[in-house]
Order: sequence, then C-alpha cells, then structure tokens
Amino acid sequence: MPLSLRLICYRCMIKHYTIPVFIPELACPFRCAFCNQEKISGHRHIPEESEIRSIVDSYLKSFKQPERHVEIGFFGGTFTGIPLEEQERYLKTVVPYLKSGLINGIRLSTRPDYINKEVLDLLKKYGVTTIELGAQSLDDEVLKASYRGHTAERVAAASKAILDYGFDLGLQMMIGLPGDTFEKSMTTAEKIIALGASNTRIYPALVIKDTAMHRWYKQGRYHPLSLDEAVEWSKHLLLLFEKNNVAVIRMGLHPSEGLVDGSELVAGPFHPSFRELVLTEIWGDILKPLTDKIAEKENIVIKVNPSQLNYATGYSGKNRKRLLQNFNSVKIIASSKIMGRDFVVEHAKISTIG
Ligand code: SF4
Repeated sequence: MPLSLRLICYRCMIKHYTIPVFIPELACPFRCAFCNQEKISGHRHIPEESEIRSIVDSYLKSFKQPERHVEIGFFGGTFTGIPLEEQERYLKTVVPYLKSGLINGIRLSTRPDYINKEVLDLLKKYGVTTIELGAQSLDDEVLKASYRGHTAERVAAASKAILDYGFDLGLQMMIGLPGDTFEKSMTTAEKIIALGASNTRIYPALVIKDTAMHRWYKQGRYHPLSLDEAVEWSKHLLLLFEKNNVAVIRMGLHPSEGLVDGSELVAGPFHPSFRELVLTEIWGDILKPLTDKIAEKENIVIKVNPSQLNYATGYSGKNRKRLLQNFNSVKIIASSKIMGRDFVVEHAKISTIG
C-alpha cells in the first residue's frame, strides 16, 4: 500500500491524512508541455468502485492515531473533466465514509477551465470539501509557453466561483516552467494568496520522457532548474505562503517508480526528500548568526521544537556539520517547550535568537 499523504498540524497536534485515489487521465484532451500524466502519477489503471472501497478501508485500518483528520483525495488527472455521471459514480462510492464520520472530507484536483456551475453543484451535493486547481503559473507568458491551454484570468474566475460555493480552495503551482523566473514565481505566489487559496503545492518542473519539454530539452531550448535553484526558490515561496497562512501541503512530486529509478525522469530537480531540503535551508538561515562566531573550544546544545529537529539538524546533518566548523561540539535536541522555529542555545556564551 502506498503511503498516505500525512501532515501534522503543530498547533493542534492532529494528524492529517489524505487517502489518495488515483484517477488517471480519463478525458484530458490537453498535452501540457511538462506532462505525461500516466508516467507522472505512476498509475495507468482506472479503479473500480470496489477497488476504491478496499483502498480506503485498508488505509483506514492502518491509521493508529485517534486524533486525526482524514480526507479522500482524487488525484492523478482532471477529475471534473470526466463525464458527470462518472464523477458522480466515484463520489457516491466515498460519500458513505463521509456520512459515517470515518473521513472528514473529500478533495480533488482539476483544471481551472473545467469548473462550471454544473460541476460545482454536483461536487457540493456530494460533500466535496476542497477543490485544488492546477494553476501552475499565474503569468500568461509562462502558461502559454507551457501549452497549458488556459490563462491566469481563467484561474482567477474559477477560484472565485469555488470560494463563492463555500469550498476550500487549493491552487497548485509549478516553478521552472518555460519562461519562468524567480520573480514570476514569487508573483504567482502573491496572486495565489490574493485569490484566497487556503492551501497550495509547489512542484518544481521536471523533464519527463515523451513530453514537449523533453523534446525542447534535447534541442537545448529548455533548461530545467538545478536542484539548488529549485530549493532556493521554494524556500522563499514557502516563507511567503507561511506568512500569509496558506498551507503548503506538498513540495516536490511524490516519488513514483519512474522518478526514483530514473526510467521516466530525463532531467530536473527531483529529490525524494525535497521538502526536507527546503526546510534545511530555512534552518540554515536561522542558525546562520551562530556561524558568525568562531568558538572552537565551545560545546553548544541547541534546543528546538521536536517537529523541527530533523530540519534544524539538516538533511544529512548539513546544518550541524556547518556549525561544527565553528564549535567544538554541537548537539541539536528536541524540547517541546520551544515553539515553531525558535531555538535556544545552552552551554554557550552566545545570545539566544528567537
Ligand atoms: S497536466 Fe493535467 S491538464 Fe495538463 S496534460 Fe496533464 S492531465 Fe492534462
């Protein structure tokens, strides 16, 4: 069973799970320059209702945490692009879980140009809670160069309609698409915030086999971001979203077989722990003032919130190793008394930075 998508809300310590149900490209007439949908999702198979029920049942059995918030998420394609009766069939399959309280919500992802009154009426009727739109960019030049087939204005209109119906809005974005720049990606994030999204995902663009971007890459017309660039851009985006209370529920694609073994991935900033890399850099910046001090004989202990321990230490211990260039010994330990990204330094004659 693939892992459910799991997040912890550190304010309430409730575990958030999303049970993913992949509905591959059933009706998508588009060919976005970055997409080979079957290869990205790693799922070609269209699940039957009985299969969906057994997926959901086995996930539910595996959840141990009593305090939890569970959603079923229809991902992998363009949910509202499939015929209405098909959408209804899928929704009817999962509604009993919602009614019995076994799950708390239903979310799905789709394109902004597949949002209309008929679709929204149907989704409302079956208790869908969150609609995520693949905005990808809110820069018309980037959208055009990526063969996305819709404009930024279309994203804005669909977002407004979704919010008017009372759904939660998610707006996914990509970075490093053809024509994209750091400034354009920050403007996209600002627009996502202004459009009222409560959540987002940040996907660095990858060169996947048999896509238009693959062709352009071979011709030298498209250059993906390096991993360092993607991490740097994402760091600024994450901080901006956090500041504006937009939850970043994913950074980087889920590692599917074709991405991990490299059989479908041609080039680009893929890393199975992409989020951790980004958070490592954020903590690298937070701890930077400590590295201004050279105290080779000093032993320091840095206390951080338990949720931040891995990131403060850094991916492969990067931040700790950096500090070890300045201090004799560095211990980074968890303390539930420390909140958020604060930290306290002990056994050292240096000031605490909150
Ligand atoms: S990204 Fe979505 S809309 Fe674009 S080709 Fe893939 S499935 Fe279709």
